[in-house]
Amino acid sequence: MELPVLYIVIPCYNEEQVLPITSGLFLDKLRDLESQGRISDKSRVLFVNDGSKDHTWDIICQLNQQDEHFQGVCLSRNRGHQNALLAGLMTAKNHADVTISIDCDGQDDINAMDEMLTEYAAGCDVVYGVRSRRDTDTWFKRTTAEGFYKVMKSLGADVVFNHADYRLLSRRALEGLAQFEEVNLFLRGLVPLVGYRYSSVYYARAERMAGESHYPLKKMLSFAFDGITSLSIKPIRIITTLGFFISLASIIGILWVLATKLFGITVSGWSSMLCAIFFMGGVQLLCLGVIGEYVGKIYNETKRRPRFIIRETTLGKDAEVKDHE
Ligand code: UDP
Ligand code: MG
Repeated sequence: MELPVLYIVIPCYNEEQVLPITSGLFLDKLRDLESQGRISDKSRVLFVNDGSKDHTWDIICQLNQQDEHFQGVCLSRNRGHQNALLAGLMTAKNHADVTISIDCDGQDDINAMDEMLTEYAAGCDVVYGVRSRRDTDTWFKRTTAEGFYKVMKSLGADVVFNHADYRLLSRRALEGLAQFEEVNLFLRGLVPLVGYRYSSVYYARAERMAGESHYPLKKMLSFAFDGITSLSIKPIRIITTLGFFISLASIIGILWVLATKLFGITVSGWSSMLCAIFFMGGVQLLCLGVIGEYVGKIYNETKRRPRFIIRETTLGKDAEVKDHE
């Protein structure tokens, strides 16, 4: 049997501090797997430079000159983690039998790759890397991140608990993923929708080896909100239910008003009226906002703008990838 070609896909944004440290680790892993006869010697580490403003791309090019195991794809500008990852995966799809995506900061344990490949060999098309412990994250990051998974789930978005974007995908799964043409990318939610046989491997999450996180609270919240609104229409249903109950309550209110009027106990209900107006105004604006979020998503989807544009790659001409084929 021919050995599978593995591509390790790594999005990088302003990572000049950490890349020199972790690139060596990735290469060692690849060599190790190669020497064990588990993957083909055509396997590669594929970095995606997500429009970094520092020397990340220069470092990637240097690495490529030192060792052809290192390859790189450079996007035309910064498009965010998810799009960068997709660009890498779609490029790798044309070369590899199997891909593993991982962050470049060394937080995810690369030794879990062995187990991922074992699961792949056993017939799984998707293997999720799941964090069994998050001791090294701050209490705040841990609670907000875990809360995020719980809220997502309760809102009907099927995501794997404590799984980020460290996962193995077979070529077949990548081809499935390529058929999802949405612009509002939330890969963690899409991969379960691709289907096929899957399993999980567990690892402890370490601290970032150098540099800083690109996900402060504000970005995390917007990521969570995007995730929910691109995977689930439950918030709109909640609004409908809310509207129904508020209408019901207002009917009771109207009856009460009529009754007091009828019995002549009319008071100058100024405060209750203002309260009702303020409350309703708030609720309506909130609901409009949520619905507007979905309208905005539809707006973005109908334009079908490319999700990434590749400026250059070290893989040569045959590596050309088109988005939205
Ligand atoms: N990243 C990217 N584009 C961005 C932001 C981040 O490609 O606009 C990459 C980054 O280089 C890293 C990964 O996404 O490899 C995860 O980012 P980070 O480690 O900052 O997030 P955290 O692990 O703190 O959630
Ligand atoms: Mg990180």
